[in-house]
Amino acid sequence: MADDSIAVVDLDRCQPDRCSYECKNYCPPNRTGKECITLRGEDTDEGQPEQIHISEEICLGETCGICVEKCPFDAIEIINLPKELQNDPAHRYGENAFSLYGLPAPQDGQVTGILGPNGIGKTTAIRILAGELEPNLGRHDEDVDWDDILEAYRGTELQDYIAAVRDGDVTVARKPQYVDQIPNTFDGNTRELLEQTNERGALDELVERLSIGPVMDQSIDDLSGGELQRVAIAATLARDTDFYFLDEITPYLDIGQRVTAARLIRDLAEKEDRSMLVIEHDLAILDLLADTLHVAYGEPGAYGVITAPKSVRNGINEYLSGYLDNENMRIRPDPIEFEEHAPRAASHTETLVEYPDITKSYGEGEFSLEVEGGTIRQNEVLGIVGPNGIGKSTFAKLLTGNLEPDTVGQDPTETSSGQSPLDAGDADLDLDISYKPQYVTIDQHMRVDAFLSSITDQFGSSYWNTEIAQPLQLERIMEQNLADLSGGERQRVAIAACLSDSADLYLLDEPSAHLDVEQRVQATSAIRRYAEQQDATVMVIDHDTYMIDLLADRLMVFDGEPAEHGRAGAPQPMRDGMNDFLANLEVTFRRDERTSRPRINKPDSQLDKQQKTDGEYYYA
Ligand code: ADP
Ligand code: ADP
Ligand code: SF4
Repeated sequence: MADDSIAVVDLDRCQPDRCSYECKNYCPPNRTGKECITLRGEDTDEGQPEQIHISEEICLGETCGICVEKCPFDAIEIINLPKELQNDPAHRYGENAFSLYGLPAPQDGQVTGILGPNGIGKTTAIRILAGELEPNLGRHDEDVDWDDILEAYRGTELQDYIAAVRDGDVTVARKPQYVDQIPNTFDGNTRELLEQTNERGALDELVERLSIGPVMDQSIDDLSGGELQRVAIAATLARDTDFYFLDEITPYLDIGQRVTAARLIRDLAEKEDRSMLVIEHDLAILDLLADTLHVAYGEPGAYGVITAPKSVRNGINEYLSGYLDNENMRIRPDPIEFEEHAPRAASHTETLVEYPDITKSYGEGEFSLEVEGGTIRQNEVLGIVGPNGIGKSTFAKLLTGNLEPDTVGQDPTETSSGQSPLDAGDADLDLDISYKPQYVTIDQHMRVDAFLSSITDQFGSSYWNTEIAQPLQLERIMEQNLADLSGGERQRVAIAACLSDSADLYLLDEPSAHLDVEQRVQATSAIRRYAEQQDATVMVIDHDTYMIDLLADRLMVFDGEPAEHGRAGAPQPMRDGMNDFLANLEVTFRRDERTSRPRINKPDSQLDKQQKTDGEYYYA
């Protein structure tokens, strides 16, 4: 096969005892007597199942691809690597396994970002830089040691770093991607967890700035996702190491908390001259956070390429445009574009429901919420924004009838018969609502396909496949058990389940959590298309500004004092909504000159001050 092709077999999927070796039987070289596809691990006494092996020497490459078509379990990929990829891999896990090209280059005093999909080798790269994984330079059948690796990276920006790793001189602190799993590995309260990490004497400041104080004596088991995220960030930044690696800092955090976490990371780099490496999928925050950016692209699960560092501005712009300039590489057919001016509200849509003023409190002295009555329009995507703990989920529960309101005010839809769609004590708006909660807890022992087909009889139809399964990348996980899914997979199944139900209103709470940047883009367009084509009304609660911008027709803004009292304003046009919302946060956005992409302004910069004076926080 051509030098620039690889064959990748997913050994978790390959199960020759359940097919009749179709790949092997149909492979053209095999049919002429060559040993292209063979079996390995036949010695079942050692408990190794029989699996296939593809000779990359003999295989004819992507233009053949017969085995890929024949395999019933989607276990095989034959890929022509891009011609532009001239270097050897940094690491390959084995023959027919994932290979990684390029490594990020952390720099003292800088925040280095990595932007790209999951499964593209980011964790592999980090394990190499942390000295946990000795890369084999793609020569998986040879003995490669750190001296060989140093030789391969001589003269590059990684030379000094690799020399230090070889000498065992690099110390590393890491924040894991899935904070929800921390309670499984730690028994105790927040204070006990954090005190173990207090190596720089900076813990008190971190606890204060991340507002962890109120949960210091709470058991780790009882923390919410947002609290766990902040505790995990504090625990990582409190350590005294050379190199800090943070795998996603934003899931479950509101925008204020995201900006604070970004500033803490920047401070540690700038003031203490540390190297920070951050993987982040919220592009507005990544832009604020990083000094340089590596874009990662490739074929998730098969190969990944980490580009040389780019300026953050160029990296994000190129990513959004779908084309990497220096690499001469198209990574997506279409660009992602932002509207510079607030979209004009559509005037023709009909009203789905008008709801009255509502109040709800959880008891004497506990959280209370005031909802200003408003209108939800048929066929719109309504964005819902506001800090954590301000009553967004409470509002959702009032709408779904899972909570009863305390008082219901003047009802604008009251008819002459005096019938109200929402009475105190009866929160039923007479609407069927399909709800995806913030914390997705579908973990029964049931296969994804069985679960989804129990929700809709559209399951498997070509319409459903095109509009739901494909954009949410469900095909490859259909046969898996819900309980075995990763956070991002579970999120995609939950979004699909929510949209597949038949309902008057679809309510998605933080659909971006754990989705990589490419999946966010795809989920955004799936949700929008669904709303347009099904005449569906969708409400989306999210903290990713770009996602809300690309999704929402109008905005509903929550403000107040988190955990004490919240106020929900009526839905309003995007421009007014963004201004209200960002004024509460004191954050302004400017436009990138080349792409019109919104970028967070530096506080107190001239633009920031001017925009605040003008009252234009977003569409300036
Ligand atoms: P990311 O962090 O970008 O999600 P990873 O570096 O975790 O990606 O994984 C990239 C690919 O490498 C995945 O397809 C994964 O299955 C594969 N991989 C990870 N570890 C191993 C291993 N020890 N052996 C074989 N393949 C592996
Ligand atoms: P958001 O969705 O904006 O994060 P929530 O509506 O979940 O906010 O919660 C608002 C406040 O109400 C929080 O302080 C939360 O702790 C509190 N709260 C939520 N549910 C209950 C409940 N059942 N009993 C008492 N307090 C609650
Ligand atoms: Fe054989 Fe390669 Fe063709 Fe697969 S792609 S059938 S391994 S020649």
